[in-house]
Amino acid sequence: MKAVSHETASGKLVLRQGDITKSRAQAIVNAANSSLMGGGGVDGAIHRAAGPKLLEACREIVQEQGQLPPGEAVITPGFELPARYVIHTVGPVWQQGNQGEAELLQSAYRSSIGLAAEYGLTSLAFPAISCGVYGFPVELASELALKTIASGLEQTDLEEISMYLFSEKDLSIWANQAEKLFGKGTEEE
Ligand code: ADP
Repeated sequence: MKAVSHETASGKLVLRQGDITKSRAQAIVNAANSSLMGGGGVDGAIHRAAGPKLLEACREIVQEQGQLPPGEAVITPGFELPARYVIHTVGPVWQQGNQGEAELLQSAYRSSIGLAAEYGLTSLAFPAISCGVYGFPVELASELALKTIASGLEQTDLEEISMYLFSEKDLSIWANQAEKLFGKGTEEE
């Protein structure tokens, strides 16, 4: 299985295994850090694929409004990416779960969806925000993210939101969670 999709009355939610920089969504979300200066993981991959103009655009944003706090989002062009835009958001660093991590993670998804809707976009792709070096437990992240995405589809004109999971193991955790929340999905190759 490479992807599983869930059709809801208000749009489609797709879980895919793969590299988000290849996504054909109108915007992809970057799991950035507050400095917006790039880094490792998905952030590094997005900056490499988009080219150096992405860093320039991020630098201008930080000059104008300062560092990006966790839970908030900003938008730039996608430059050399297939995606037209990159929405940069900052997820929480997992501490013990009692520092508002859950609320901040949902806020990162919610702010990104809100910005995509403001730009009139119909498709958006997310990586597993905070699930890499920020250490958020994947099981809990998948539940919070999927619930927030489902309400985002309901509350906006977005038609399709994809989650890009990097490993087969992550895809299976997210797919199980989606099945718990929304019932059985449709498997795609
Ligand atoms: P964070 O700092 O928010 O934890 P990371 O980039 O360390 O962000 O990890 C977030 C998730 O993105 C992890 O599950 C990691 O495996 C995944 N990831 C890394 N590179 C890519 C990529 N090119 N496409 C999609 N997901 C990726």
